[in-house]
Amino acid sequence: MTRSIDAAGIALAETAAALYARGWMEGTAGNISIRLPGGETALITASGVSKGSITAADVVEVDIANARPVHDGAPRPSAETTIHTALYRLADDSHAVVHAHPPYATATAILAAQRGVDTVTFTDLEIIKGLGLSDPSKVVVPVFDNHAHVPLIADDVLDRIAADAPPVMLIGNHGATTWGPTLDIARNRMECLEAMCQLMMLVARS
Ligand SMILES: [Zn+2]
Repeated sequence: MTRSIDAAGIALAETAAALYARGWMEGTAGNISIRLPGGETALITASGVSKGSITAADVVEVDIANARPVHDGAPRPSAETTIHTALYRLADDSHAVVHAHPPYATATAILAAQRGVDTVTFTDLEIIKGLGLSDPSKVVVPVFDNHAHVPLIADDVLDRIAADAPPVMLIGNHGATTWGPTLDIARNRMECLEAMCQLMMLVARS
């Protein structure tokens, strides 16, 4: 492996372990990727690995054009690789994608699915600023159907998300995905989305 791939693998493992410790990647759930230098490939967490014990060796280089591993004999990439590669294809400045199951964001995604709505709107929350939008007074977060065949979700992402869309999405009955120019920013955006969902649920209860 080259030094840049080594560094990316370490960053993926550290971020995944931190999100696992928060309870956002239960079981073997959750997946994270980084676009590699050159822009044509990404490094993504392998399938079926606990994010609590993941190492820099549990990652796979995949081709952004077709979501397939670049090297023979590599570990199996995350089942949700096609969503990551779709997001990289949508925006050249997307360099990292985080997918997790934070409890409040996931509960919001469950409620959206139960209500049959395909967006959730957040208005006038200070934390929206963390998403880096030009107008932080409001954000409309798309909610995608949770197809068992993940490439169908990726197709919906390509159909519905514009290159300049807010860098966050929910998947009904499932979880959340965020992206950004760096892994830290993509993770920060996941924290902001979870905070928005938590705040609205706390307010709804009061
Ligand atoms: Zn998931």
